[in-house]
Amino acid sequence: MKSIYKVTFLCAAVATLAACGPKGADENNTTDAAGSDTSIEAKIGQLATVELTADLSGLSENERKMLPFMFAAADIMDELFWEESVGDKKAFLDTIKDPNIRRYAMINYGPWERLNDDKPFVKGVGKKPEGANFYPKDMTKEDFDKWTSPRKKGLYSMVRRDDGGFLQTIPYHEYFGDKIDRAAALIDSAAKYADDKGLKNYLTLRAKALRTDEYQASDMAWLDMKNNNIDFVIGPIESYEDKMFGYRAAHEAYILIKDKKWSDKLAKYAAMLPELQAGLPVDGKYKAEKAGSDSDLGAYDVVYYAGDCNAGSKTIAVNLPNDEEVQLKKGTRRLQLKNAMRAKFDKIMIPISDELIDPSQRANITFDAFFSTIMFHEVAHGLGIKNTINGKGTVREALKDEGSALEEGKADILGLYMITKLHEKGEFSKKSLTIAT
Ligand SMILES: [Zn+2]
Repeated sequence: MKSIYKVTFLCAAVATLAACGPKGADENNTTDAAGSDTSIEAKIGQLATVELTADLSGLSENERKMLPFMFAAADIMDELFWEESVGDKKAFLDTIKDPNIRRYAMINYGPWERLNDDKPFVKGVGKKPEGANFYPKDMTKEDFDKWTSPRKKGLYSMVRRDDGGFLQTIPYHEYFGDKIDRAAALIDSAAKYADDKGLKNYLTLRAKALRTDEYQASDMAWLDMKNNNIDFVIGPIESYEDKMFGYRAAHEAYILIKDKKWSDKLAKYAAMLPELQAGLPVDGKYKAEKAGSDSDLGAYDVVYYAGDCNAGSKTIAVNLPNDEEVQLKKGTRRLQLKNAMRAKFDKIMIPISDELIDPSQRANITFDAFFSTIMFHEVAHGLGIKNTINGKGTVREALKDEGSALEEGKADILGLYMITKLHEKGEFSKKSLTIAT
C-alpha cells in the first residue's frame, strides 16, 4: 500500500470542480428570510468541492522544503490574476456583503459566472469587459487599431493611458513591481533546495524570466527537465482571459508531483510509437515521417492551482510551452493531471453514466479505463504525419480551421487503434477489450 499524504499546510488545496448537480438555480436572484442570496447558494451547490491529494512519500527532504516557497509564489500569481481580470481584489470584495455572493465571486475570480457565458451575478456590475482589466476600460477596438505602438500586441504587458490620455504598454515586471520581485525571490529560494540539476536550472531561469518578462530561456530549460519529482508551472501563460484580442497572457501556477508509475507507463507506450507508426494500415507515403519525436508525456498529481488555471473549470492536462519558436526547436511536454482527472471522473463522469448508460454495462466505467483512453489519445497525437506529402507545408496549415477538430478525432481513433494493436501483441493480456455484461 502506498501512503497518501494530504497536503495539509494548505487550506486552499481544496479545489472546486465544476460538476453536474441539481438543476434549477434561479436566473433571478432571490433571498431567504435572513436576506442571504439563495439562488447563488444553489449555484454554489452545483459545484463539487474536492480535496486534491498526492503521494509525497517519494519526495526527498529537500524537495519537501521547496514546496512552501512554491505555494507562496503561486499565491502571488493568484493576486496578479485578480488584477488582470478585475482590478483591486480587496476593494472589489469589500463591496459584497452577502457571504454566498462573496464565495461565488472568489470561485469565479470576479462578479461574472465563468461557466455560464460570463453572466454577471452582482447587481450593477454590467457586462464583463472583453479585454478584462488588461486594457483601459474606455478603450475601444478602434482606439487600439489606430494605436501605432510596435508593442501593442505584446503577451507580457498591461495597456494603460498615460497622463496625456495616450495608450501605452507597461511590462508586467514594472506594472506589478514588488509582487513580481517577491515571487521571483521565492522561486530562487525554492531553487536552493533543488537537487535535480534540471529543476534547479529551470527555477533559476524562471525567476529571472519573471523579473524581465523574457521567458524563452526558461521555457527551453523546462523542456530539458527529465528526472524532476516536482514540477512548478508558473508565470503568464495562457491568453484566454483577454477575450478582446487574445494577445495578453494571464498569470497562473500549478504545483505538481510526478506519478512515477504512470509516467513510466506513458514513456513505455510513447517509445512504441515508431513501431506502431510503421504498422499503420495506410499507404507508405502517409507514414514516412518518424513518429512522436516531440512527445514527452508525464502523469502528475496537482496539489495547487493558482490564478488563471484555478478560475472556473479546472485544467486536467497541459501541453506547454505555447511559444512556437520553442515548440519548433524542442517540442512540447504534455502533463496529465491524474488526481484532477480522477475527481472529474468521480463527480462528473459517474453521475452522467448513471443517467445514460444501461445498468448492465456500468461495471465497465472505471477510472483505469478512462485514464488509459486519455493516455492513448495523448500518445496517439504523435502518430501520423506532420507535413503534407506534396511538400506544401504542414498538415495543420493545410487543414486550417478544421485542423484541430480533425487532429482530436485522429487522436481518438488512433488511440483505440493503439490499444487494439498492443492487446494483440499481448500487452494487456489480462484485460478483455470486449464489453463485460
Ligand atoms: Zn487531444
